[in-house]
Amino acid sequence: MTTPCIICVAITGSVPTQKDNPAVPITIAEQIESTQDAFEAGAAIAHCHVRGDDGKPTADPDRYAQLKEGLEKHCPGMIIQLSTGGRSGAGKDRGGMLSLAPDMASLSVGSNNFPTRVYDTPPDLVDWLASEMLKYDVKPEVEAFDLSHIFKAKEMADKGQIAGTPYVQFVMGVKNAMPVDRDVFDYYVHTVHRLFGPDAPWCAAGIGANQIVLNEWAISSGGHARTGLEDNVRLDRDTLAPSNAALVKRAADLCEAYARPVATWQQARDILGLRKAAV
Ligand SMILES: [Zn+2]
Repeated sequence: MTTPCIICVAITGSVPTQKDNPAVPITIAEQIESTQDAFEAGAAIAHCHVRGDDGKPTADPDRYAQLKEGLEKHCPGMIIQLSTGGRSGAGKDRGGMLSLAPDMASLSVGSNNFPTRVYDTPPDLVDWLASEMLKYDVKPEVEAFDLSHIFKAKEMADKGQIAGTPYVQFVMGVKNAMPVDRDVFDYYVHTVHRLFGPDAPWCAAGIGANQIVLNEWAISSGGHARTGLEDNVRLDRDTLAPSNAALVKRAADLCEAYARPVATWQQARDILGLRKAAV
């Protein structure tokens, strides 16, 4: 049977504003409403950041708690993945929300350049974030901005710092980091299968206009797909995406074109080896 494709929707992120696209959900209420629509359109994972009253990114655990509670109520069963990325905080602040025990959290395992800054995740912070995820039974999604990050995930799994098979996301198209390159993408897939086994799940995210490119590469290669307004605010050059749900639908249409069923949240939890949802 063809493996169902898990669609992850990255609803808000740290960068886009409502000036870029009025559909970017900023307040908790907007985030819950936008995620519910995306869930109904087929997304099984919500990748979440929170913003302060000023619209700027924050890692405030209280805000994360409110968002998590709202999503559990309005999107029962959906996998909640909180960001520990470095744009919303620094040092251990990045992991202050892990004690909320979300299903998943993003985990950067190394450093690289971003468009205007160093995205720094030093080794001691990587170790600490991973240990908090183990403590609270949070499945990491390893963000691979570089090939070395896939090997770091393998080392961490071998040392028991990551439980089970690592779930790696290839991130391509961030300015000054790994560009969108098909040969590299294919080698990433090859490397995941070599290190973690032929059945190891993986996913991919492309930034801006490359979102749909990476969706198509991942869906057609047996991987899982990430979409959403965090990474891209447009349907095409001239058209703003009207919602996160519209971007999810675009990915779901690609699944249909490649005969991949869209994974339900139950199937997604099974594929990723997550705990059962309390619904
Ligand atoms: Zn993010």
